[in-house]
Amino acid sequence: MTRARSSSSPPALHARLLAWFDRFGRKDLPWQTNPTPYRVWVSEIMLQQTQVATVIPYYLRFIERFPDVDALACATLDEVLHLWTGLGYYARARNLHRAARIVCEHYHSELPRDINLLMQLPGIGRSTAGALLALAHGERHAILDGNVKRVLARFHAIEGWPGAPLMEKKLWALAETHLPATRLRDYTQAFMDLGATLCTRTQPACSRCPLTGDCAAHAAGRVMNFPAPQPRAAKPVRKITFVLLRNRAGAVRLMQRPPAGIWGRLWSFPECTHRTERKIQRWCESELGFIVAQVERHDPLRHTFSHFHLDILPVVAEVTGRRPAVMETCPAVWYNITQPDARGLAAPVKRLLLELAKHPARKIHDANGELRKTGPRGRSPQAPAVSGRARQTDF
Ligand code: SF4
Repeated sequence: MTRARSSSSPPALHARLLAWFDRFGRKDLPWQTNPTPYRVWVSEIMLQQTQVATVIPYYLRFIERFPDVDALACATLDEVLHLWTGLGYYARARNLHRAARIVCEHYHSELPRDINLLMQLPGIGRSTAGALLALAHGERHAILDGNVKRVLARFHAIEGWPGAPLMEKKLWALAETHLPATRLRDYTQAFMDLGATLCTRTQPACSRCPLTGDCAAHAAGRVMNFPAPQPRAAKPVRKITFVLLRNRAGAVRLMQRPPAGIWGRLWSFPECTHRTERKIQRWCESELGFIVAQVERHDPLRHTFSHFHLDILPVVAEVTGRRPAVMETCPAVWYNITQPDARGLAAPVKRLLLELAKHPARKIHDANGELRKTGPRGRSPQAPAVSGRARQTDF
């Protein structure tokens, strides 16, 4: 049910929002100084699903390395993913890189100003295109990111989950209605700031909000009822085993993942679904061509995606030989964990590599490079037994 507001006309909202912005809005964010379309674009992509404080250091490193769209287009995807490592949602980085190449090739290295052309670029939806044009050029376009959806849903007390098509249609119409005739740059930033700093999801500060007087949810004492949460089914759980193959020099095998699917084009460990030492050993030999002397299981960890949980069992496998007849089907490298190079890594991969770097390769080879005798079931005598789901993975 949508309750009509009776005491406030749309212009009142933007006037109060702008007055509030003049006093309290954020004006010194890195992308607000010299807001070129490229810089605004990069910031808007990074800010999708990520908070400002998290984005700032990533943004600064990214802009330093890729100061303009040409620099980004000329970079390899590996370089881009490397600078994105830890920020998550890697499709954003892949799309940004792909779009930069299109902009250079088809638009003379200038982002188009036509919203429809912008929306044809990979990774740019209606809200991002509107934000880009409003923030970079001061053009009159609405935005509807998560913050704006929440403010509008509360201000108008609109029932329903904002991701539902009908609800989204209503919110877009309202976002358009509230647009002022001027100061689009400030208004757009103000709306985003209000949602991020006052009308927050869990602790809305209504007493300090410039919209309190006309906010329908506040008037009804039902602020926390809006917006309605997404109706959820329980997230499925997938299980995989990360095989951390380690060679005699202590380097770790990484393979580049295919472009489609999770962590596309990022570097990760070989993975299988086996859980037992014997099967993992056989798999290493038949699928990767590596003979492994021993396999150590370590604490599992869970990585949660938007649509499923991934339960990862890391095992460290010491390589002692090679079956050259086996061909690996994707690019692979021996990764020097003490002097890592620049490549994109998924967050749990990076975390496991850091843990592994703390612990040098176990001395399972003697001075002549021959395999030393190991403990029961292949576990080296000095290797600690580890178990339990809840603990941090540690090597
Ligand atoms: S009054 Fe409260 S609920 Fe309404 S817009 Fe302001 S902060 Fe959000």
